[in-house]
Amino acid sequence: MNSLKHERKFGFESWDKEKINKVFSFAQDYKYFISENKTEREVVKTLRRIVEKQGFVEIDAKDYTQNKPKKVFKVNRDKSIVLGIFGKKPVKEGIKMVLSHIDSPRIDLKPHPLYENEKIAWFKTQYYGGIKKYQWPAMPLAIHGVVVLENGQKVEIKFGEKEDEPVLTITDLLPHLSAKQMEKKLEEAVEAEEMNVVVGSVPTSNSKLKTLNSKSEEGKDLVKLGVLELLNKKYGIIEEDLVSADLEIVPAGKARDLGFDSSMIGGYGQDDRVCAFTSLQALLSLDEEKLGQGVVLVFADKEETGSESNTGSLSSFIPDFISEMLFLEEGKHDENLLRDCLSATKAISADVTVAYDPDYTSVFDPQNTARLGAGIAVEKYCGRRGKSGTSEASAEYLGEIRRIFNKKAVLWQTGGLGKVDLGGGGTIAVFLARHNMDVVDAGPPILSMHSPFEISSKIDVYSCFEAYQAFLSS
Ligand code: MN
Ligand code: MN
Repeated sequence: MNSLKHERKFGFESWDKEKINKVFSFAQDYKYFISENKTEREVVKTLRRIVEKQGFVEIDAKDYTQNKPKKVFKVNRDKSIVLGIFGKKPVKEGIKMVLSHIDSPRIDLKPHPLYENEKIAWFKTQYYGGIKKYQWPAMPLAIHGVVVLENGQKVEIKFGEKEDEPVLTITDLLPHLSAKQMEKKLEEAVEAEEMNVVVGSVPTSNSKLKTLNSKSEEGKDLVKLGVLELLNKKYGIIEEDLVSADLEIVPAGKARDLGFDSSMIGGYGQDDRVCAFTSLQALLSLDEEKLGQGVVLVFADKEETGSESNTGSLSSFIPDFISEMLFLEEGKHDENLLRDCLSATKAISADVTVAYDPDYTSVFDPQNTARLGAGIAVEKYCGRRGKSGTSEASAEYLGEIRRIFNKKAVLWQTGGLGKVDLGGGGTIAVFLARHNMDVVDAGPPILSMHSPFEISSKIDVYSCFEAYQAFLSS
């Protein structure tokens, strides 16, 4: 019999040396992954490379009925990707799904970003997702993304990450003159329109450019022109090209081990690339021959802004992909089969949650908040106030998840988003539940969540891998 009283277990207290060694080596790969892939596009590109190597076939218009691939994938506009593996059971009887998101809170460029003010060139920005604006000034920043030229050619930009490369930054006011600013509410201390990025200060020395420009106003915008000249040299772009671009400002530099004991990882955008990485590793570790139900992994974009847009989870690309899998199996597109499959599907919405922070005890219910290092956190519901806007997992489904995790000795705990009525939040779970599937949130607890430097425990990262693996193979 299990012990009568339930107590939270911590990995560093209960796991043996051999397991801890695995935890640390897994964390190395994870750190590398989040350091190299900071945007949804970069994650998709890397995932495509990995799964193609593993024999996944991209579903396209070809007829596969003669030679049905076992492992398939589809990329949606380079910003989201879905992977599928067929099991022994037909897809129409339901599949196992794990969904994570690969966008993170950040600062985007406006369509007309570049201007000059006081002989300094700047980028205008608009923040993306839920950030605390005061956390972003006075730190090294990088720019990642793509610019599409008028002829359709795509230019990739990743600047500020290499050690010998310059970085960008947002300025902050010196404390000596901040008396007024310090009196402001935190929310207003740094205004969105003040989050302009410093990008240069050398005026162009190109006499041709100078003369062209002087026709309008002599000596004006020479620094801006200097930056445009550099951008043109480096990337072949002109100012108008910035209109058709997805350019994202993110913290510069790599994820790091944290603590004298290296037990934690500090880095940008662990929400939610931690679940993307661990669910991918779980999928790749499966014994495909033994797979009962088919499995699907979704890596979605736009979660941080509400899952809208064609690459967000509210778009039809998720059911469309499953429909394609059904077609491969049944040889026909049939809405009823798709509905049958979706309503018999079991899903994990793999997303991070808050870790109990002893510096801010007043916002937590200590008994129902996840702890760093105590394993993957399962959340029956999130939402706001009286469970508003949430997808609540049923007792039956929670029972099933608990059984699956316990059977494989997965280190898990429950999580919740702080004290009732203090705030709240949501995940992709609600959108999956609309397809009438069973879904529950499960992911690692994070300290400093949504900040430029989020903290995870290596124990929890590994527990997520084990949990998703147990779920997908159950
Ligand atoms: Mn998230
Ligand atoms: Mn988030």
